[in-house]
Amino acid sequence: MTKRLSISMFVDACGWEVIRSRPWFLNDLTYRRRVKSVFGYSSACVPAILTGKLPNENGHWSTFFYSPATSPFRPLRALGALPSSIVDRGRIRSALSKALAKAYGYTGYFQIYNIPFDTLQRFDYTEKRDIFQPGGISDSESIFDYLTERSIRYHVSDWRCPDDHNFDSLRRAICSGRTQFAFMYTAHLDAVLHDFGKESPQVDKLLGAYHTKVQDILRLAEGHYDEVRFALFSDHGMCTVTRLVNLMPRIEQSGMKVGIDYTAIFDSTMLRFWFHTPRAEHQIRTILSDGNDGSWVTEADHRREGTYWGDSRFGNGIYLLNPGVLLCPSHMGTKPLAGMHGYSTEHADSYSSLICNYTPDVEASSITDYYRLMREQADWAASSETETNIPTVVPLRDYRKVSLPR
Ligand SMILES: [Zn+2]
Repeated sequence: MTKRLSISMFVDACGWEVIRSRPWFLNDLTYRRRVKSVFGYSSACVPAILTGKLPNENGHWSTFFYSPATSPFRPLRALGALPSSIVDRGRIRSALSKALAKAYGYTGYFQIYNIPFDTLQRFDYTEKRDIFQPGGISDSESIFDYLTERSIRYHVSDWRCPDDHNFDSLRRAICSGRTQFAFMYTAHLDAVLHDFGKESPQVDKLLGAYHTKVQDILRLAEGHYDEVRFALFSDHGMCTVTRLVNLMPRIEQSGMKVGIDYTAIFDSTMLRFWFHTPRAEHQIRTILSDGNDGSWVTEADHRREGTYWGDSRFGNGIYLLNPGVLLCPSHMGTKPLAGMHGYSTEHADSYSSLICNYTPDVEASSITDYYRLMREQADWAASSETETNIPTVVPLRDYRKVSLPR
């Protein structure tokens, strides 16, 4: 029997333009493709990858959607009366987010960021469950449901843990010799790219470390399996921030009232509005005109990108900033960033990268194709065994005691 292992390594923000200028990165792996992303942030792209479906097919786009009747944040309304110097501190907001997640039993990534409490109480939250577990996606099955249904023995890293822990657990899964499909997710590169930008030496250093770690992982895997397939991919890239714009005061000082005239969520690269009156819509569209800062997303754009909802739960008017323009401050934070994503999917910096040590049958043109690629990997690894010849459980060995083949 041929023992096979497939490894999928999901490196958040490892875009095509990030690796294009670093040809040394995983240069042994010759299958390299530039792949189109999905419009939105990681809250849209990650579920699209895990399900193979566009946002309006799987129910996940932005984290906050307009739903005053079901908002879990109504108990926080009273906090709106407290001075913002107290309730808007990052640590207080993080503690509140943790307490809410615990109280409601949310297992997904949960943050209320800097959204004002009078706005927050009109919204519900998309990612209530851990999307890296079976049943984690609202309106679709994911790769983890697929693996579970077919009893494919898989390993998945814990997104709450740091890289070192997750590389350790991946090595252990490999050394067990039982894993057929291993999935590792890391958001460390995304954080470094936001802080320092894609041209920075900090990115060289981290990608250099990943280069070495992947080589070690492949050597280790080849010592425990007859055949190993490896794929590294990302959800999007990272655009260098060239200009900050402070647009919130223009709306807030217009005299219109939140909840009566309009409601808004100010993301880092898009201002999402729910217009409650035609007058408010006209006024806001006049304040934010198509031009140097950004432009209004049309219904045709939303339909093409798979982000159109008839009930406008994610906004009935979205002003998208031009690539490199960052809304600062925004509801996401007050700190200027060196890099940002969540711009037009047509921009070069939005593209994802795919790197494999084999030639997949799936020709990926969109990041949603990574779902089919992972299924192909998992089926390939599982096809070498039948249920009757699964070996008995091999005790986990400490990977540090395993000598690597030279
Ligand atoms: Zn990011």
